[in-house]
Amino acid sequence: MNENTTQRLNIEAVKRIAETVRTTLGPLGMDKMMVDGGGNVIVTNDGATILREVDTAHPAAKMVVEVSKMQEANAYDGTTSTVVLASQLLSNSEGLFAKGLHPNVINKGYTAARNMAVEYLEGMECANGGLLAIAKTAITGKSLEASEDKVAELCVETIDAVGHARNVKTLAAPGGSLSDSYLFRGVVLNKDFIGGGDEFDNWANEEGVDILLLNNGLTEAPDSPNVSVQVDASSYGKVQTMGRDKLLSSAKAIVSSGAKVVVLRDGAHDTAVAYLRKQGISVIQRVPESTLRRLSKELKCPIHMIPDSTCSTGVGFITKENYNGVSYLFVHSSNTESTLVLFGATQSTLDEVQRGFDDALGVVSLIKNGDSIRYGGGSTYLAIAMHLREQASTVGGRAQMAIESFADALEIIPATIAENAGFDPLDTVLEMRHKRANMQIDETMPTFYGPDVENGGVMEMTGVYEPTSLIRCAISGATEVANAILRIDDVIGRRGSE
Ligand code: ADP
Ligand code: MG
Repeated sequence: MNENTTQRLNIEAVKRIAETVRTTLGPLGMDKMMVDGGGNVIVTNDGATILREVDTAHPAAKMVVEVSKMQEANAYDGTTSTVVLASQLLSNSEGLFAKGLHPNVINKGYTAARNMAVEYLEGMECANGGLLAIAKTAITGKSLEASEDKVAELCVETIDAVGHARNVKTLAAPGGSLSDSYLFRGVVLNKDFIGGGDEFDNWANEEGVDILLLNNGLTEAPDSPNVSVQVDASSYGKVQTMGRDKLLSSAKAIVSSGAKVVVLRDGAHDTAVAYLRKQGISVIQRVPESTLRRLSKELKCPIHMIPDSTCSTGVGFITKENYNGVSYLFVHSSNTESTLVLFGATQSTLDEVQRGFDDALGVVSLIKNGDSIRYGGGSTYLAIAMHLREQASTVGGRAQMAIESFADALEIIPATIAENAGFDPLDTVLEMRHKRANMQIDETMPTFYGPDVENGGVMEMTGVYEPTSLIRCAISGATEVANAILRIDDVIGRRGSE
């Protein structure tokens, strides 16, 4: 394949994938419904989620999916913007190819533009937005917008309490109303005790109970499951008794540790459970290792592999709740861990609620941890574009054409937000440019204008705020993936792949 064909095909693949998320951008973006072969349905407005679920065989499209994941990991939000921008950068490069620019020159121009953009972004006027407005901007257009005040407040309260988005887990419980959602200081297991835990009532729960964490199970399976032994019928019985003996001695060791509750990563055999329950010990099984680690932090006790009498336990308080027929165990002690308990009508709306919460928690967390605030609605992208157009001529040679194309590409963000709200993208962008140019002449004028998604035209973006790092990551990620794709001049099947 010659160079141009490969690049054209790669660019086409990226455009196609960007097309699937483009219409979700902004407050009036639409949702997507995705159905898999098993008939499972996801309804979402979240770019990263859509891209995760879409079947992409094309390697260039996969690179774009990767960059959207990076955006989510670094900035929690802005995934659709990143993909739409990457696609527009590639699309504009086609015009540059047509004018005879070599991919290397485009790369150089795009990189220079990215550097200028980031520098300008950092020095730009900070918006004085509150955390509530930041959270609300992240959730506008999502299904939880109806309760945006409650959601924003809960997000800010949560980050105030726990410091960082990574310190909080969200747990979604179907049934109930979103407005009943709350922050629990501790760990919530979406489990019950084996057998329902009648012995549970006997604990002195006011003083807390001793909890033992085991990164193991209580099963008869031999320690090394890969070893196979051939036995006749009579020795088989012996092997079984041996297994049972081992099981019982593990159970006795748990009793001697003084624990009243044992939390297992793996399953538990009926014999062991029956023995333990008779001794008044409740068993929770199949708890993921990550949750065990959270419990270990909350209870300030180690996780053990093998139970014995010297095993240290942690003292915690456990309460059992039942939401809509599903049991949950609430464990708390030192309140180091936090769980946001979310309620929603159905599982599929709840997943979307959870995604919205994760975005909003993330952006609030960024600001709380030192990030600054910029105006949203694509107004910051447009301001950078105007700056780049002014600066392009300071760069020598043909690269300045690439810088101008880069500037044009940035304006796809406000243009798409306007278009998705049903208004003319070009008129909106032109009016935004006009306002900004006037503002630069008269600095007392209001600052940032973006698309008015209700009435058309433009309006001040007061109250529409984003973290600076979200915009920086989106621009950098989009540039990097566009550059990488432009540098590819051939796609070769690897040995071993189909
Ligand atoms: P992303 O996945 O990129 O976050 P979204 O669908 O969440 O995509 O849309 C985010 C864009 O919508 C941001 O540019 C944000 O500033 C903008 N936006 C949010 N609220 C408003 C609003 N009220 N008016 C105009 N733009 C808004
Ligand atoms: Mg968003």
